[in-house]
Amino acid sequence: MRHILILGGTTEARALAARFTARPDLRVTLSLAGRTSAPAPQSGNLRSGGFGGADGLADWLTAQSVDTLIDATHPFARRITAHAAIAAQRTGTPLLTLSRPPWPRQPDDLWTEVATMAEAAAALGPAPSRVFLAIGRQEVAAFRAAPHHAYLIRSIDPAPDLPGATRILARGPFAEPDEIRLLTENRIDILVAKNSGGPATYAKISAARVLRLPVILIQRTANPDALTTIPEIESALLHPANRGV
Ligand code: NAP
Repeated sequence: MRHILILGGTTEARALAARFTARPDLRVTLSLAGRTSAPAPQSGNLRSGGFGGADGLADWLTAQSVDTLIDATHPFARRITAHAAIAAQRTGTPLLTLSRPPWPRQPDDLWTEVATMAEAAAALGPAPSRVFLAIGRQEVAAFRAAPHHAYLIRSIDPAPDLPGATRILARGPFAEPDEIRLLTENRIDILVAKNSGGPATYAKISAARVLRLPVILIQRTANPDALTTIPEIESALLHPANRGV
């Protein structure tokens, strides 16, 4: 039986694990970083917590006789993706990467695209604004550099304190009418988000477009080797000759 390790923390990883767990020829382990206190229900054997860098992951691949590594982590989870590439190469483990394409800009989008959270904080400008921070909780501290704004922060687990911020807890997927209501009721002037791609969190982007609100969007570099859909991963896994797996 082939042992598949899926690096997860995304809707897609959960879906992949559910799909592959149903197959009698595969043994599936789904790995989470362990950041979320109550993760959504998952299929397969679950493990949680870091491996201890690329070396630790390489050791784990060897010790657990992993046949194929699937990196289905979030497009902004850059360290684990780098570690996966190193560990796969070091151990000769075939690696498949699943990554959603970024959202493309639509004609009515009012986007300012930036590379980092520090640039996003600076791009908010000198005039005090009401800002919706939809970036998760890990990088909220970057906005301490722009304390003259009033922030609404949404995250799954509580975000660190930011002076003058209101914090709300919610887990996607989100629907456009709800996002329009949230932005309107909180009199939001500007949205800050990551260009994560995928449907689950796109509603805030389309809501901003409907309301003609500016968006500061943190960009990422696309991975040219990544596959973008679950059927593509399944096909590469089950018909390995197509991908050299
Ligand atoms: P990161 O910066 O790339 O990774 C930091 C460290 O966390 C890694 O070096 C690794 O620790 C551990 N880690 C990350 N993902 C792991 C996994 N699936 N299984 C085991 N260990 C993992 O990652 P991050 O941005 O903090 O994201 C953490 C998790 O949240 C990821 O699984 C990601 O898919 C999910 N997520 C991230 C975002 C985002 O915007 N960054 C959004 C939604 C979900 P060791 O070096 O000790 O192995």
